[in-house]
Amino acid sequence: MPGGRSRLRGRPRDGAAAAEGNVLIYLDYQATTPLAPEALEAMLPWLGGPEGAGFANPHSPYRAGRGAAAAIEVARDRVAALLPPGGRVIFTGSATEALNLAIFGVRPRQIAVSAIEHAAVLDTARASGAAVEVIPVDGEGLVDPHISIAAGTDLVAVMQVNNEIGTIQPVAALAETAHQAGALFLCDAVQGAGKIDPPQGADMIALSAHKLYGPKGIGALWLRDGLEIAPLIHGGGQEQGLRSGTLSPALCAGFGAAAALAIAGRVADAAHVETLWTRARALLADWTLNGSAEQRWHGNLNLRKPGLDVARLMSELREVAFSAGSACASGSGRPSHVLRAIGLDDASAKSSIRLGFGRYTEASELEDACALITAAVAAQGALT
Ligand code: PLP
Repeated sequence: MPGGRSRLRGRPRDGAAAAEGNVLIYLDYQATTPLAPEALEAMLPWLGGPEGAGFANPHSPYRAGRGAAAAIEVARDRVAALLPPGGRVIFTGSATEALNLAIFGVRPRQIAVSAIEHAAVLDTARASGAAVEVIPVDGEGLVDPHISIAAGTDLVAVMQVNNEIGTIQPVAALAETAHQAGALFLCDAVQGAGKIDPPQGADMIALSAHKLYGPKGIGALWLRDGLEIAPLIHGGGQEQGLRSGTLSPALCAGFGAAAALAIAGRVADAAHVETLWTRARALLADWTLNGSAEQRWHGNLNLRKPGLDVARLMSELREVAFSAGSACASGSGRPSHVLRAIGLDDASAKSSIRLGFGRYTEASELEDACALITAAVAAQGALT
């Protein structure tokens, strides 16, 4: 957690555990990341009470309002620096909202989406009323960049980094394939932003602050210059008429600070993640990796073990926060659509876990978690 360790000290599962001083080892960085202290710091002035000016409406014309508006524009530039040149950033309440704005905004009649998109793309595509074609992935969790796109498709959506298995898609080549077929290309870059190079060639890119050490409640849609789309939320005409509603200067400032930090610390963050990946892979060498090892963000370790009872493992390991499948699918009882798409049967998909780590994860806590997992698995009996 901010300040050093990604342990949720003082927030264990119940009062008894709190009294025992248990700590939670947080290994669910794909679900959300801890808020960076620098992002929190940047937010505080804009959360101020009546004595300061930080509460002003950023859309008001007087000085305090203009100050808040200026802070938002600084943040917008910082977020834009995560993205390719030649586009504009529209702030939204989440990446889910950004993806809804993108998909409904281009009013598509026919959409092609990869089989491993997040529900924010899959469900929105279906809800848009367009015909939806699903692009398959191979056993490694990768989309063929030269896939043929059906005639009449107006929008292709393929994510940059998958949230469940971390695979990195050949986005630039896919954007070219989409354009050759006369379609726009939408990229959900939620899991890759600030970690790897921005997706090239896309017409629209969705981001979320809380996946890159910023606050929850804010996302962004990047639009290539010249692309006009229809608004989803109507009202006062904020965000260039595309997203009405008063912006939160605090959330924007936090997002901007997190973006700047991600850029400044990208090399160090990636090196840290690489060290953690190598260590965890060695400690859990008898597990099978789901998805490509190479074309992957290494802060994501999705592993399976035949016959493993994941529900039991999770209930026995309350001091480790990790996920079965994606955070969204967890608890639903349904096998993950991503693991099914890479060819796993229901039993294998249901015997998979996802460990996610990042900037604030310490090697020692990852080692502790691996030891706890190994012991809990051994207690379930002999597994091959
Ligand atoms: N896309 C991906 C790949 C995600 O992992 C998530 C969050 O889990 C989302 C979209 C939705 O992001 P948000 O929580 O900002 O709506």
